[in-house]
Amino acid sequence: MNIASFKNVVSSFLKTERMPVLFVGHGSPINAVEVNEFTKSWVAIGKKLPKPHAILCVSAHWFVDGSYVHGAEWPKTIHDFYGFPSELYDMRYACPGAPRVAKEVQNIVSKTKVGWDTDWGIDHGCWVVMKHLFPEADVPVFQLSLDTTKPPAYHYDLAKELASLRRQGVLIVGSGNIVHNLGLITFDEVSKPYDWALEFDELSKKYISERNHQALIDYKKLGHISQLAIPTPEHYWPLLYVLALQEKNEQAIFFAEGLVYKSISMRSVLVGW
Ligand code: ZN
Repeated sequence: MNIASFKNVVSSFLKTERMPVLFVGHGSPINAVEVNEFTKSWVAIGKKLPKPHAILCVSAHWFVDGSYVHGAEWPKTIHDFYGFPSELYDMRYACPGAPRVAKEVQNIVSKTKVGWDTDWGIDHGCWVVMKHLFPEADVPVFQLSLDTTKPPAYHYDLAKELASLRRQGVLIVGSGNIVHNLGLITFDEVSKPYDWALEFDELSKKYISERNHQALIDYKKLGHISQLAIPTPEHYWPLLYVLALQEKNEQAIFFAEGLVYKSISMRSVLVGW
């Protein structure tokens, strides 16, 4: 995205007092410490976003039976990954929580009963990204779980009920990966992505750009490539939360794109005007 586009985002926010919404393709936990084209794009967009009052994160890694908000005053940093360098396990993202906004989520969602959780915290799908977006950890952050038992349309519809939060200065961030097939990854960095991975990523870009949300909700109808791209839904569903919050006349822009490890898309989307 160029500087003029960012200025449009900011001036649009000031005019409408509506926070943008982000989907971030988070990739490997190692992105917490790496400087690469993706983490640089997260840093850049973090610097240009209006400062939120609070951040609601829908992470691929809080994937449980039921919808919950995490309500701790000081959420703990969860190191929910294995086999990475010790420096990652030493990292903390010491942000405050946002229990009052979490209560607001319980109040405004009518589609289901949103439970209150004090056991979870901030998982790596959230803090690996937040480290770059808001390195000072001075904005309150809380998470909303993904209910494993529900279909894609349920998540899209639930997200629509969160729209008023944008006008209360809450930044909503979905964190996952549009294409995410861990079973087929390779760490050979010179290998080209699988054709099906490129194809699904491009198709998602097309449908996002065309605002064809129904096709993205019905991704299982997109055939064999969708089965390979989305063998399990937890990394894809956070995208549906972001799309659901796209209001009339708001465009979607891509602030990062590209595939890593042959089968992980890092495509990231901002909906903001
Ligand atoms: Zn992940």
